[in-house]
Amino acid sequence: MTTYERQKFEVFSGLKGSRLLMSDDWKEEVSKCSKCGKCHTVCPVFLETHDESSVARGRISLAEALLDQQIVYTEKLRDYVYSCKKCMRCRKVCPSDVDYEKIISALLHGVAENMGIPLLPKIIFRYILPRRILFDILLKVSSRVQRFMPMKKRGQMRHLPLLFMGKRWIPTLARKSALQKFRKTKKIKNPRMRVGFFTGCLINYIYVDVAEAVVEVLNRMNIEVVVPQRQLCCGTPSSTMGDVKSTKRLAEENRKVFESLELDAIVSACATCTKAIKNDYLRILGPSWKQMSDKIYDISEFIDTFIGDIPGVKPLEEKVTYHDPCHLLWVRNISEEPRSVLKKSSRFVEMDMADACCGGGGIFTIIHYDLTLKMLERKVNSIEKSGAATVATNCPGCVMQIADGLASRNSTIKTTHSIKILQEALRKSEART
Ligand code: SF4
Ligand code: SF4
Repeated sequence: MTTYERQKFEVFSGLKGSRLLMSDDWKEEVSKCSKCGKCHTVCPVFLETHDESSVARGRISLAEALLDQQIVYTEKLRDYVYSCKKCMRCRKVCPSDVDYEKIISALLHGVAENMGIPLLPKIIFRYILPRRILFDILLKVSSRVQRFMPMKKRGQMRHLPLLFMGKRWIPTLARKSALQKFRKTKKIKNPRMRVGFFTGCLINYIYVDVAEAVVEVLNRMNIEVVVPQRQLCCGTPSSTMGDVKSTKRLAEENRKVFESLELDAIVSACATCTKAIKNDYLRILGPSWKQMSDKIYDISEFIDTFIGDIPGVKPLEEKVTYHDPCHLLWVRNISEEPRSVLKKSSRFVEMDMADACCGGGGIFTIIHYDLTLKMLERKVNSIEKSGAATVATNCPGCVMQIADGLASRNSTIKTTHSIKILQEALRKSEART
């Protein structure tokens, strides 16, 4: 028996009776897989585990077995489903154009329906995320508690000995959220555009400086920025655990908020939020979201598309390299735009394997901490080899993960968001004139 067959046998244990939750388009995608194995060559999880059930082809085989009622949802099956980072690299190389996202989303939904969602995430998804005031209070209390935690000076990281975070270093929660800071829209006289800013949770509660950079940079370019106060989480945490009901509720609330405003565009500085509101909402809300989806841009994509040559900017002396967030590169094909903006605002240097996953992201980081560390180690090696003083990226989740890796090596290399580099370059250019 080959390893593949043995693993198949272990999971396909002949149980019966699962709720399958299969729509026809889901089945169609499963049947498109030719089992060529091309996904093995790019999957960051498979490259670490060499485990057939931890890659798209293996999970599609599991889906087929569910469809044939050879297996039901078990803990082992749940682990295999949860071990997918949903980075969508496999989709990019798949010669049969299998829409793997539909398959993994249905499997996650199946896990949630058949095995339930753990109580704490369920409370967060259903009762806290849809209520901004409650979310604010919870984070405010956490921020106060965090100040009494043992603190070590490694970059800006503060050690929170939370069980679920293992040995991770996480940044300090902001005392005032981005939404609270930008309650009022700064009016611009004859603005060239009026854009809405989707902050996302990490930027709202932790990386408020990134929100400040987005607003400042766009305002400097004569663009009015509206930060809608009633916007909610994009829904990625709940969709990652298959909680379709919660995800849909968040999507519908965000739809109401953004559709009620007259905006030329919506920008996001988080690769994962951009993927969620631009791509995933099309699946969740249907084709009626298409008009809004077309207006959604990653912040660098927006600047590169609508501004091009940035007026008055002189590049910083600092060497800066760029890490490609999976959700921006593999889902949206955005790689040139952030580099283009960084080249105009710094001494840009490319790192080896800039597109390699940093290992960050959602429940994967919590459940498979050992695997994320292996991915992170490779990423940090590439960053150090590049000779850059700063690594920039367009995802706060990647910022958090990479900063953790660099801090654990006591590295002096800074981790930041690309928009902060442009903000600094603009400020320094102005000071020089
Ligand atoms: S690359 Fe596509 S067709 Fe080939 S095994 Fe993977 S999912 Fe199936
Ligand atoms: S989405 Fe990413 S982690 Fe999941 S199977 Fe595809 S390549 Fe692997």
